[in-house]
Amino acid sequence: MRVLQKIEDFRRERRAATGSVGLVPTMGYLHEGHLTLVRRARAENDVLAVSIFVNPAQFGPQEDFATYPRDMDRDLSLLQAEGTDLVFAPSTEEMYPGGFSTWVEVTTLTDRLEGAARPGHFRGVATVVAKLFGTVQPHIAYFGQKDAQQAVVVKRMVADLNIPVEIRVVPTVREHDGLALSSRNVYLSPEERKAALSLSQGLFRAGEKYLAGERNAELLRQAVRDVMQEQPIVRPEYVSVAASDTLEELDVVTAGALVSLAAHVGRSRLIDNVLLE
Ligand code: AMP
Repeated sequence: MRVLQKIEDFRRERRAATGSVGLVPTMGYLHEGHLTLVRRARAENDVLAVSIFVNPAQFGPQEDFATYPRDMDRDLSLLQAEGTDLVFAPSTEEMYPGGFSTWVEVTTLTDRLEGAARPGHFRGVATVVAKLFGTVQPHIAYFGQKDAQQAVVVKRMVADLNIPVEIRVVPTVREHDGLALSSRNVYLSPEERKAALSLSQGLFRAGEKYLAGERNAELLRQAVRDVMQEQPIVRPEYVSVAASDTLEELDVVTAGALVSLAAHVGRSRLIDNVLLE
């Protein structure tokens, strides 16, 4: 496994690579969710590249960039054990040198959900992903369904900018009790961890109602809110039932709809979603 911090050094390794290159972009502090993407990419490509970069451009000024958990040594040993070939771990200065002034903005899709709650977030995401694609030049890139809107935005970007990469989306990996794995779960106290279960439980409740025949989107949103409301320390930010491609809110639920939410639990802001199938 080669670990490269410089774009030029990575490019040199990339030029020597033969066969298909799979990329898993991450912000590090790896957990089983990330490693599931890594294993899938390992199985489906000749060369496995993983990037580790906590991208300041996708954090708002009041968000947790400074305190975002980091552990490069642990991440590298996990990636080594998964048979990773190339790790790209640039510094902030390497990615955003002085004079940097070009941004990728995906419109419309980013007005909603996470984009509405976190202005500028997807501009940062789209820009860094475009830069990673330019550096790594993967044939296939892997994203988690956990960040459902991110996957939709990245797909739109590569289609609109004719970037020759295939985007594959991997289902959300959960703890045994249903909590979606997230690097930010380390912030949760035991009490918050328990209360945070109401997010996935709310989503599962909506899924059950859908399976039982409920097609009224507002009643599904309410079902999610009802479960979260049982936990006073959970502060929901939004609960959405939307079309999974356009992310437009639905009145009547159609197959493949995305039920998603964001909520504050203690000092953590957590997101989760399920697809209705
Ligand atoms: P992050 O390091 O949070 O930027 O995540 C890197 C990639 O891992 C993104 O594509 C995420 O959607 C994905 N990911 C994070 N958590 C999970 C999870 N619990 N299940 C599946 N994918 C995940």
